[in-house]
Amino acid sequence: ASQEALDGASQEASQDVLDGAPAVMCIRDVYKNFGATPVLKGISLEVKKGEVVAIIGPSGGGKSTLLRCLTLLENIERGTLTYGDVCVAHDDARTAEKLGSSGAITSVYAPKEVLSKARSAFGLVFQQFNLFPHMSVLRNITDPLIRVDHVPAEQAKQRAYELLGKMGLAHKADAVPCELSGGQKQRVAIARALAKKPSILYFDEPTSALDPELTRDVLNVIQDLAREHMTMVIVTHEMSFARDVADRIIFMDGGVIVEQGSAHQVIDSPREERTRAFLSTFS
Ligand code: ADP
Ligand code: MG
Repeated sequence: ASQEALDGASQEASQDVLDGAPAVMCIRDVYKNFGATPVLKGISLEVKKGEVVAIIGPSGGGKSTLLRCLTLLENIERGTLTYGDVCVAHDDARTAEKLGSSGAITSVYAPKEVLSKARSAFGLVFQQFNLFPHMSVLRNITDPLIRVDHVPAEQAKQRAYELLGKMGLAHKADAVPCELSGGQKQRVAIARALAKKPSILYFDEPTSALDPELTRDVLNVIQDLAREHMTMVIVTHEMSFARDVADRIIFMDGGVIVEQGSAHQVIDSPREERTRAFLSTFS
C-alpha cells in the first residue's frame, strides 16, 4: 500500500478509537457575558479521552474566556459543564424557561467539594507562565501539590524531579524563574500543570510570549505529550503545529464555534468565509 493510504488508514483507526473513548470534558450551550457584552454565545464541545483539540481564531473571539470558564476561573451564565461524571454546572431548565432568552443567569454550580474534585481533573498553562517568582523551580511544582492536592512532600518532590527530567530541566530545580529563559519557564509551567496528573490539559497560546527559537522546545514538549495520548485543548496561532498535533481543529470567532473538523478539513479546505479570511492572514 502507498504511504498515503497507510497514513489514511492509521488516521481512521485513531478516529475510531476516539469515537469509542469516554468524554473527559463536556459543555452544552454555554453563554458568558462581561457586563452587557456577550462573549460566549452558545458553545458546545466534548473532548474525548486521548483527544488533542486545537482552537484557532482571531483575537477577541472568546478563546481565552472559554478556557477560563472551563477551568472555573470565570462562571458561565447559562449552559452545562461536566468533567467525566462530575457535573460542575447545569442549566436549571425551569429558570431558563421562565427567563427565556433574556440572558439572565440560569447555570447552577455544584457545591464547593464537588468543584474542588473537578479542579483536580484539569491543568492550565497560560501564555505568561504564571510561575511564583520568589520560589525555586522545584517549589513552584511541589508547593501546589502539597498545599492543594495534599500529596506528601517526599512524593511531590519525586514527581517534580521526574517531570523536570522529562522537560530537560532537572538541572534547574534550584533556580528561580527569573534565571530561566521564556521557553524554560514555560516548560516548568507545563511540568507544574502535569504534576497533579490531570485528565485534561489546557494551553492558552503557550508560545505567544516566546522567541521563535524557544517556541520549538515548548511545541516539542506538547508534541511528546500528544504522542503519549495526553488529552489536551490548545489555543494556538501556530498553524503548522496545530495541523501536526491536533485530532480536531476548532475555528472560533465572535463567541461561537464557526467550524470544526480535521486539520485537513478546516485548514486546507475551510467551508466558511470567516475561516478562509482568518487563515489567509497566515500565508
Ligand atoms: P481571545 O482569547 O479569543 O482573544 P478573549 O476571550 O480574551 O478572546 O476576549 C473575548 C472578548 O471578551 C473580548 O472582546 C474581550 O475584550 C472581552 N473580555 C475578556 N475578558 C474580559 C473581562 N475580564 N472583562 C471584560 N471584557 C473581557
Ligand atoms: Mg486569548
